[in-house]
Amino acid sequence: MKQMRLGRTGLEVSRIGFGALQIATKYDYAHAQRLLNLALDLGINMLDTARGYQDSEERIGRAISHRRDDFFIATKSGGRTRKDFWESLDESLRRLRTDHVDIYQFHGAETGSEKYIFEGESTIECMREARDQGKIRFIGFSSHSLDGTLSHARSGHFDVLLYPVSYVGNEAAERGLVQEAERLDVGFLGMKPFGGGRLGEARYCLGYVLQFPSMAPVIGFETEAELREVVNLVETGVELTDADRREMAKIKSQLGEKFCRGCGYCQPCPQGVPVLSVMFYDVYHKQFGDDWIARDEYRKEIELVDRCEECRQCVERCPFDLDIPVVMREIVARYRELMRAREGRRAR
Ligand code: SF4
Ligand code: SF4
Repeated sequence: MKQMRLGRTGLEVSRIGFGALQIATKYDYAHAQRLLNLALDLGINMLDTARGYQDSEERIGRAISHRRDDFFIATKSGGRTRKDFWESLDESLRRLRTDHVDIYQFHGAETGSEKYIFEGESTIECMREARDQGKIRFIGFSSHSLDGTLSHARSGHFDVLLYPVSYVGNEAAERGLVQEAERLDVGFLGMKPFGGGRLGEARYCLGYVLQFPSMAPVIGFETEAELREVVNLVETGVELTDADRREMAKIKSQLGEKFCRGCGYCQPCPQGVPVLSVMFYDVYHKQFGDDWIARDEYRKEIELVDRCEECRQCVERCPFDLDIPVVMREIVARYRELMRAREGRRAR
């Protein structure tokens, strides 16, 4: 497997990383164990997980902690206070069955996260203390908001960032984040290179993200066949033809008007509609599966769309000009259809 230097960390990571969300949300442990070991056997040495990814950390610890020298592990804390930070880190270490995390990230450090990272609880100090204690090696964050990501990258406090990059959601390159991270020597992990499961055709997805030599895309795999196909493409390289580019442009223009980046700028809604959560329906469905979206908690969120009064405040705030009320109504219709079909199957 080709390798690359991950910014100022100096870590020599595999050209692609393994995103470990789906191994916890959609499959049993035996499947997760096979996928994780196969990924390492194929030369992937960079794994990204989170305290919040159900039992992903636990599965990693159980399946591959005996091969700890074969991989770097990145995980994340959603803690907003010092107490939560330490509890989260100690729990991650316990579940991963390791004494250190290679890259520890603030999870979902969107615009506004400065308040708990640098001010108030100043959790960045916890990061430094954890590094001094040897519990973590490098400090990172994940985010879906471009402005917040640029601001954190420029702060000088972070070694690594994790931000979405795909040929449809391509603002990281178009608006200069890839270039800025390179200039600052901040390691760049590319989140959702397959659009969080919304984009098929591995050649297109990889052809786009692999053109950035300083960015390591982190990919969530579901099957051994997918994993082998992607590793093979990375090894051989992807040469996009003019016909490929035309097809990618077509897909981008078809999907672009509905492709939510998860940045959350559209919120809050004065009527209490959880816009981001609804707009991310296809990502949740792909990554978590039917049972997860059928839960009461998510169904209630979908039903809140009925409160929308079409004031269009959210549309004005969306940097990608998505027609949010229209897209949400389509999502609600698809959701209800899926739930009806599910009920129908159960009744038979
Ligand atoms: S258009 Fe609807 S969802 Fe958007 S802010 Fe207004 S009420 Fe909320
Ligand atoms: S609807 Fe627009 S503003 Fe809201 S999360 Fe999605 S991309 Fe961001």
